[in-house]
Amino acid sequence: MGSRILRSLAIVIALALLPPGTAAQVNRRSWTIVGADLADGSGRALRRANVRFVGDRVVSVGPGVPQRGDTIVNGAGLVVAPGFIDIHNHSAEELANDPAAATQVAQGITTVVVGPDGGSPWPIGEYLAERRRSPAAVNIAAFAGHATVRRLVMGDDFKRPARADEVARMAMLVDQAMREGAMGLSSGLEYEVGGYAETSELVELSKVAAKYGGVYMSHIRDEADKSFDALREAIAIGERARIPVQISHIKLGTVGVWHKAAEAIAIVEAARKRGVDVTADEYPYNAWSSTITVLVPDKRYDYPPSVEKALADVGGAANVLIVRHAAHPDYEFRTLDAVAKDRKMTPVELFIQIVRDGGAGVVCTSMVDDDMRAFYQQVWVMVASDGGIGTRHPRGAGTFPRVLGRYVRDERWLTLPEAIRKMTSAPAERLKLAQRGRIVAGAFADLVLFNPKTVVDRSTFSEPSILPAGIEKVFVGGELVWDGGKPVSARPGQVLVR
Ligand SMILES: [Zn+2]
Repeated sequence: MGSRILRSLAIVIALALLPPGTAAQVNRRSWTIVGADLADGSGRALRRANVRFVGDRVVSVGPGVPQRGDTIVNGAGLVVAPGFIDIHNHSAEELANDPAAATQVAQGITTVVVGPDGGSPWPIGEYLAERRRSPAAVNIAAFAGHATVRRLVMGDDFKRPARADEVARMAMLVDQAMREGAMGLSSGLEYEVGGYAETSELVELSKVAAKYGGVYMSHIRDEADKSFDALREAIAIGERARIPVQISHIKLGTVGVWHKAAEAIAIVEAARKRGVDVTADEYPYNAWSSTITVLVPDKRYDYPPSVEKALADVGGAANVLIVRHAAHPDYEFRTLDAVAKDRKMTPVELFIQIVRDGGAGVVCTSMVDDDMRAFYQQVWVMVASDGGIGTRHPRGAGTFPRVLGRYVRDERWLTLPEAIRKMTSAPAERLKLAQRGRIVAGAFADLVLFNPKTVVDRSTFSEPSILPAGIEKVFVGGELVWDGGKPVSARPGQVLVR
């Protein structure tokens, strides 16, 4: 065979080996964003800089001027930042149906990390291969879910501690997931399947994830009166398995622990001083959204003392907003307290009546702002949504602009560069995502351009999918995916593996 044939054969083979979804690598389009204030992801103060990128990489950051052929973006009055990395995202299923992911890119999110709270797609390798075959607008990474592997091994007989042989089989599954590219192991210990696991089970499985450099990420066992014990358990798992720990959506969710953020922070700080690598993330809302029955953990919905305690735990019936109740639409968007007064009933009687009439959707304000602020002000707390495409809570479409608009600009809880760090380099370092989370020459051109004067969330508990304002342009791997309030058709999202 002639050398020319050999060479073209080599090219054909090389192209065949190129995984799908790497279109960005052949995208040689060049751009320069001129005159924006740079928040480079490090937390350093804003500075004026031009950002030039070619194909999927940033090539220069600084005074450099556009070159011939560049598309020039006027960044005057805007901030350019690394794309936001949402380390706790629930879009795993919806991404296939909605690859444009408008509710995500509209917030400036360029990478979603799915599989939190103990539940993940399975097998991880197949799921990621499917995402490579049909890429989305955003990059994706995945955790392996503890409840997912527990269910695979124990089936419906999960309401008990696992036997040693079962833990060994779960460990093999975690091993498989890690080899297939999972970022680590996630758990949801307040939920049905994961909640029956003993600490030792989680230690054994975390050891497997640790072997591959993974992270143990946990919705801890209690976010209410026993929050501090739950925090200590997560830390103990990190210590015993020698694995970094990520506390998911850190919060203090009942009256008994309100205003005690300092105590939670002291527990984490003490662990960090001993060398345990503990970090956390937090969503910027003081209310959750669910069905009215979740208020009563012992599930005795028509037993007045249980209901009474449930309402007291969230600060009273005035903190429970009815958002959906088919039997009485006239109750919607009024509090349990107000409706009870109108109807000359006690809130407990009304609660019991509502459950009998088919239940209701509620929004419950059960966290206090000073705890939220104290957590965000810790260097080890990141911003994450705990939402995703289609989430029935405004955090699914509002989290990142809400932090930038309300908690940076209006309330001044954080400086802008520090908030950006919590959205970019902090999660990137946590997950060891190479060349992401900062704007430096050589980094992937995952970028967001926003207006710091107007950026704000607009999603509400009644309309949770309204898109935020102020995010002007979003690039993933150098390709524009969001432009002036609209998604663009490009699907440059990459699959990121550990
Ligand atoms: Zn959770």
